[in-house]
Amino acid sequence: MNQIIPQVPRQAQGQALVIGAGLGGLASAMRLGAKGWRVTVIDRLDRPGGRGSSITDQGHRFDLGPTIVTVPQILRDLWSACGRDFHQDVDLRPLDPFYEIRFQDGRHFTMRPGVEAIRAEAARLSPADSAGFDRFLADARTRYDFGFEDLGRRPMHRLWDLIKVLPKFAWLRADRSVHAHAARRVTDPALRFALSFHPLFIGGDPFRVTSIYALVSHLESSFGVHYAMGGVQAIADAMVRVIEGQGGTVRLQTDADEIVTRDGRAAGVRLKTGETLASEITISNADPGFTYGTLLRNHKKRRWTDKRMARSRWSMGLFVWYFGTKGTRAMWPDAGHHTILVGPHYREHIRDLFRTGKITEDMSLYVHRPTVTDPSAAPDGDDTFYALSPVPHLGHDAADWPTFTETYKARVAKMLEPMLPGFRDRITAERVFTPETFQTRYNSPYGAGFSLEPRIFQSAWFRPHNVSEELPGLYLCGAGTHPGAGVPGVIGTAEILGHLIPEPAVRATAPPVRMAAE
Ligand SMILES: Cc1cc2nc3c(=O)[nH]c(=O)nc-3n(C[C@H](O)[C@H](O)[C@H](O)COP(=O)(O)OP(=O)(O)OC[C@H]3O[C@@H](n4cnc5c(N)ncnc54)[C@H](O)[C@@H]3O)c2cc1C
Repeated sequence: MNQIIPQVPRQAQGQALVIGAGLGGLASAMRLGAKGWRVTVIDRLDRPGGRGSSITDQGHRFDLGPTIVTVPQILRDLWSACGRDFHQDVDLRPLDPFYEIRFQDGRHFTMRPGVEAIRAEAARLSPADSAGFDRFLADARTRYDFGFEDLGRRPMHRLWDLIKVLPKFAWLRADRSVHAHAARRVTDPALRFALSFHPLFIGGDPFRVTSIYALVSHLESSFGVHYAMGGVQAIADAMVRVIEGQGGTVRLQTDADEIVTRDGRAAGVRLKTGETLASEITISNADPGFTYGTLLRNHKKRRWTDKRMARSRWSMGLFVWYFGTKGTRAMWPDAGHHTILVGPHYREHIRDLFRTGKITEDMSLYVHRPTVTDPSAAPDGDDTFYALSPVPHLGHDAADWPTFTETYKARVAKMLEPMLPGFRDRITAERVFTPETFQTRYNSPYGAGFSLEPRIFQSAWFRPHNVSEELPGLYLCGAGTHPGAGVPGVIGTAEILGHLIPEPAVRATAPPVRMAAE
């Protein structure tokens, strides 16, 4: 654990500064506020939530990122650490069905709550795989107990933390990919997909990500899949209310330029405006690539050098088309809240996304239609959608997005048309995010959708540590740190900071301190 060195200027004592109001940053602020730190959160955007925020246009609420909330107990734990009840603050609804997967051959797989329902659906899809399916679910539980409850909820910044768990890694065949693991248990390609596609939701290649990620099947079947009424934005807004109730401050449209140091430790942040905010500890929720490469650009790094970050493997980019349609609420009854449309050449498509970095005609889509659960996502009678297509990140130089966007949108439309006939003529509001948007909006290296790829050698101790070894007083949270991306993952990074950061020696009573520009 990093020691809090007592020689901090008096005005900074007890002050904690969080750069980034993503879910990881807000959850960290809540944890620190509960410990008695006076917390200031800053974010360059005009709404809290980062990737989990929303934009509303003509009454259509576009949930920009996460739509599926799993493991709600991690949110309940966060709230109760702050002496509050999550369910008093957020209306979280369990979904039935969770999602539907549609395959090219006309078959489909509908994921529903409860082990029995899922087992019946697997048996319908592939009766011969019933026994293998049961074994897969049992494996998923073992992997959940280890990967989520044990490894995922404790600090991983000391090599010893890793060494201790290596025998378990070996026993669970963590070297095998989640797809390879599913393939050992079931034979049907569609069922293999249904049991192993989940790493794509956190930026991982199912053919390379460790089989520990099979744990997702356990957490879905045991704890369900949920939607927050009002979108994940409602969770972020509720977090801000908790922080403010603790005496903290959330400043939006406030862009950090550089982490400032004093006497060899992090001492706060200088904003793009030149203003400096002093703090005793600094937590960065910005991507670790951006934190070390840009916010700490004038500090010599021992481990997280620019070269090392450039050598790292980044998750794929995302092309997301958000659109609102007029008078369609009663149309397309087969289109549920969450639908996955699987393209014709799944394995080749994944290879192109992650390795060759090519954009081909082939694609798979995730389609979000929140109005099925939450009518407030669109004006009466109307609909709101997003269609998400994974694409290579900007490091592959696969497309000139400003000129290619319309072409790619037409390809997405072609894939959507059978499910939503005539939808293009009914669009009244729309936005498109490409990897370039992710780069400029979230300061995401290479415009990656989910920060560093969750490969085995970029996970746990190998991932940027929650306590920085580069600068005392600096901590990291969010998708690029341990345990990783996804709503439960980034809330987990805050839980780990809660273990690592002690209560302040001196409690600040005054509001956050501003110092003159240096
Ligand atoms: C389209 C999409 C769909 C997804 N779907 C799901 C899902 O269904 N379920 C799920 O669990 N997960 C999902 N995810 C993943 C999940 O949303 C993310 O892993 C998680 O929200 C990331 O949170 P974070 O706190 O790490 O970072 P972010 O949300 O990226 O927040 C970081 C914040 O830092 C701010 N920042 C950066 N630099 C600066 C600076 N210099 N000064 C001030 N502020 C700065 C940014 O503005 C941003 O607000 C999805 C992600 C995307 C993109």
